[in-house]
Amino acid sequence: MNIKVVKFGGSSLADANQIKKAADIIRSDERRRYVVPSAPGKRFSDDIKITDMLYKCNALAQENRNINETFSAIAHRYNNIIEDLGIDLSLDSELETIRKNITEKAGSEYAASRGEYLNGIIIAALLGYEFIDAASVIVFDEDGTFNNEKTQPKLRKRLKGVSHAVIPGFYGADEKGNVRTFSRGGSDVTGSIIASAVKADVYENWTDVSGFLVADPRIVDSPKSISVITYKELRELSYMGATVLHEDAIFPVRTAGIPINIKNTNKPEDAGTFIVSEVPEDESNKYTITGIAGKKGFAAINIEKAMMNSELGFCRRVLAVLEESGISIEHMPSGIDTLSVIFPYSQIEGREDEVIAKIRKAVAPEHIELESGIALLAVVGRGMRRTRGTAARMFASMAHARINVKMIDQGSSELNVIIGIGESDFDEAIRRIYDMFVNSVEE
Ligand code: ASP
Repeated sequence: MNIKVVKFGGSSLADANQIKKAADIIRSDERRRYVVPSAPGKRFSDDIKITDMLYKCNALAQENRNINETFSAIAHRYNNIIEDLGIDLSLDSELETIRKNITEKAGSEYAASRGEYLNGIIIAALLGYEFIDAASVIVFDEDGTFNNEKTQPKLRKRLKGVSHAVIPGFYGADEKGNVRTFSRGGSDVTGSIIASAVKADVYENWTDVSGFLVADPRIVDSPKSISVITYKELRELSYMGATVLHEDAIFPVRTAGIPINIKNTNKPEDAGTFIVSEVPEDESNKYTITGIAGKKGFAAINIEKAMMNSELGFCRRVLAVLEESGISIEHMPSGIDTLSVIFPYSQIEGREDEVIAKIRKAVAPEHIELESGIALLAVVGRGMRRTRGTAARMFASMAHARINVKMIDQGSSELNVIIGIGESDFDEAIRRIYDMFVNSVEE
């Protein structure tokens, strides 16, 4: 039988009502056999996530302050969930042990992990699935990095013969038995690891949006959602700021060739977004572009020197200064006698003159200047490779909006075009590109 591993995020499990929706989703498809829950998240926008309350308890304990008030609020939320679900379960003794351990300074990773742990016990009881403590199957090294080589065989062995299980997300343990966590949002990673261990047919990641959108809805009015995206495209878009999934969640399923399906707990009928390794050639996207993302806060150092192109080692000397100054560059567009380097402004802030002086000394340019307030936009799409005129359309739309393009960079994979513009043009540029490639396409 096919297997689906299902991970539910914090907003999908924020209270009994949400948990019931998740349970209905799980029960509606018998392939949904392994469940990875987050801790209860926000029920409304000003609410506090259980994980944040647990971090707070730990911070108080570390300062030898009393945690009882904050901890009672946590206990109260879990007890409310149990009561509203109407299940026969008491977490009293678990809660007491956790309160005691946090007070005795068990540490922030232990404290934070208890959100998932307790939620896992509740969901396992509700579904009648076996509860498997992630500390017994997800292995971390002592330096806190996740160890996949040790985890995979351990998980496979433990899950052999277990047809249905709930395994809490976000944490595991090192070989001394200390609880360790992934970085924030890490339940996504756990889901991916489990999916790879059980060779799932799909890893469903349930959240509060129906997948990825072509552009940021705060900028473009009701953008279309992306039905299929490749891992490579996703990587380009998330690098440029689009977030739905923890970055490390891609690796385990990608190597195992398992697609991820981002789904909406509040609208389970929506297809969501599929993240896959390859898309068959004939299954082309409706639009040339898959998505647009961008980031502000970049700066450029523009360097000019006649005959620079024939000066051996010119680029290397510029790059060496940047490296010594701890500046990591994003792009390096160049002309015959000009060279620009683009990097996040924060990396040079406060040291502008010093870095410029060092470059002057290294390459004696005729002109050098620092330009800040640059935004980078990534227009990403596997469809660009086989479509002509994409760049022309992009720049025509910029020209019509009188947006000055400072830099253009097309990756060799022809999967993305990066353009540099002024920060004040950021929103307008995204809207124009969206209009050109999405709104103008016939439905
Ligand atoms: N609960 C953890 C967090 O808030 C992990 C997760 O939800 O994935 O970051």
